[in-house]
This record gives sequence, structure tokens and C-alpha cells, in this order.
Amino acid sequence: MATDAEILDEFHKAMTPGLSPVALEAVKTRFLGRSGLLKAYMEEIRKAEPGRKAELGLKANALKQKMESALAEARSGLGAPVAKTKPGEDLTLPGTGIPPGTRHPITQVQDEIVDIFARMGFSAAGTLPSEGPEIETEEFNFEALNIPLDHAARDPFDTFYVGEKKVLRSHTTPVQARHMLVNDPPVRIVMPGRVFRPDTIDARHHNVFHQVDGLAVEAGITFADLKGVMETFVKACFGPSRRMRLRPSFFPFTEPSAEVDMSCICDAKGCAFCSGRGWIEILGCGLVHENVFGWVDARREKSGKPRAYDPEKVSGFAWGMGVERIASLKYGIPDIRLYYQNDLRFLRQF
Ligand SMILES: [Zn+2]
Repeated sequence: MATDAEILDEFHKAMTPGLSPVALEAVKTRFLGRSGLLKAYMEEIRKAEPGRKAELGLKANALKQKMESALAEARSGLGAPVAKTKPGEDLTLPGTGIPPGTRHPITQVQDEIVDIFARMGFSAAGTLPSEGPEIETEEFNFEALNIPLDHAARDPFDTFYVGEKKVLRSHTTPVQARHMLVNDPPVRIVMPGRVFRPDTIDARHHNVFHQVDGLAVEAGITFADLKGVMETFVKACFGPSRRMRLRPSFFPFTEPSAEVDMSCICDAKGCAFCSGRGWIEILGCGLVHENVFGWVDARREKSGKPRAYDPEKVSGFAWGMGVERIASLKYGIPDIRLYYQNDLRFLRQF
């Protein structure tokens, strides 16, 4: 059997300087734990001659105290600063630090747009790659949205092809079709995301930009609902003094379709900012085309899901806006390229 002196010796060997808290805990278990060396020592005492029991008991107690206080001391020493200064160095001076970053202005405005619609009951959809992929099939990017292969309306939405019938999506609108395939009405969603167009880059165009699409579908939705939601958005995003007007337009996936114009900061009187027009175009919208519902229901039926978007029973409205455009109007940014040049002098202003 090991003597108390031998155990203590073993303990001191284990207690090397600079042990981590985890290592200290392991030493404690090995010597003081339930099946530790001290416990074994005390078991032996029980078997000792009656005359020696008292003496051995005292030794065991002393051994326990020595080990416990050594462990406590080692623990209290943890985290104490080890100052190793060179001559002339002052560790009490403030550090250089890492300046805190900010969210990119496009992210900020996109979040704000989603937030405004969230207050009207819309939830974000298509934010996962599985629900709103940036590499989209030709079918979802075009056919699902009533843009057939030979339709002239395909031109402005034409995009980068990345393989057989695969494209970089030219709008976030395909998420509408993806969402309706797996969800029954009522639907109230906004779809933020990155989109791609083969445009020549200039102050107002870029190959990569961001959109927030929206969709509401249920029984009894009318154009008045669309107008109310758009007007609420314009005032929430740009201030209560802004007015809104609708101008007839065309989109393949909505019928009727409209452009939403907002009164300029000159209150529609005409100024340099609006080139004297008084109104600024901010987004496109309309009532969901029944061919979009038809495509969704045909696809649902094919996959064994019940039809749910009968245009006789439900109606809906949809819109799409460019985040860069909204941000530029909010902050008076004259050139879209500024967002992507990674110039901190520009980005730090937001
Ligand atoms: Zn103006």
C-alpha cells in the first residue's frame, strides 16, 4: 500500500505549473475523487490494526487538507495577468481595436422593406436556397410566370444561361410559383433576394441587383387591396407626405398591371431630381394572372396534390421592386455602382 508521503509526492508531480482548469479538475478526480488515491488509502486504514487506526486517520486528514489547499491555490492563480513587458511598453494604454462594421445599405433597405410588409401580415419566403434558388430552371423563371419561350415579353427578363435549361434567375418572382406549389391559400409573402440580368453596367443598371417581390392570394382580393397595401408601403418607407399613383402597364404574370409612382420631394411640382415630371416610378404590380394560377394547379395535380388556386375561387395581387432603386431614392444615391465598389468612405455613411 502507498504511504501518505508517497501519495503526496505523486500529487506534487501531477501539479505541474500552469495547468488549465480542465487539467486541474482531472488531478482532483485522480487524488480526491470517489475512486481516487485518498479514498483507497482510507480503505486500507479500515483494515489496519486497531492500535494504528487513529494515527493513520490523522495522516489521511492532513494529506487531504494539503491537496485541497494546493488545488485551491492553483485555481485562484488562473486568469491572473502575466505581465511580460519590454522596456518602454505600457500595457495600460488603450488598444488599437477593430472598428465595428455596419450592415451594407442594400441589406439595411431590404430588411426595412421586409419589415414594413411584415407589419401588414406578410412573411418572408424563398430565403433558403431550396425555396428560392439563384440558379433557377428556365421553367420557373419563365413558363411558370406566363412567359412562353416565343413571347416578346421574354426579352427584358432574359438572363444568363448556366447550363441546359438552367438560368441565373432574372427576378425573385419564381418564388411565387414555388411557394404556391407547396402551400395552400391564403398566401401573404414577401420574397427578398438577388437577381441577375445581362445589362450593360452604367449608373442605373447592373448585372447583379436585389428585388423584393410580394404576393397575396385568398378569396375576394381586389385591386383596392393592392392599392391600399402599396400606398401604406410608400408612406411607411418614404414618409407620410408622399402621395402614390398607379399608371397602367404590362407584365406577363399580372393582369391588369400597373406601375406605382410616388410624388417627388418637390410634392409633384417638378424639380431637377424628377426631371420636372413631379412623379417617380418605384415599382410594378398587378393582379395575379390566371395563367400563373393555372400553371401552379396543373403542376400540383401532376404531383398528386389537390388543386387550390381556382381563379373562380381565389384572386391575388403581386408586386416586385428593386432594392437598389428604393435605396437610391431614399438616400439620393446618383449611381448604382457605388453600392458594389466596396468603398468604405461610401459605406460608412449608412
Ligand atoms: Zn421633383
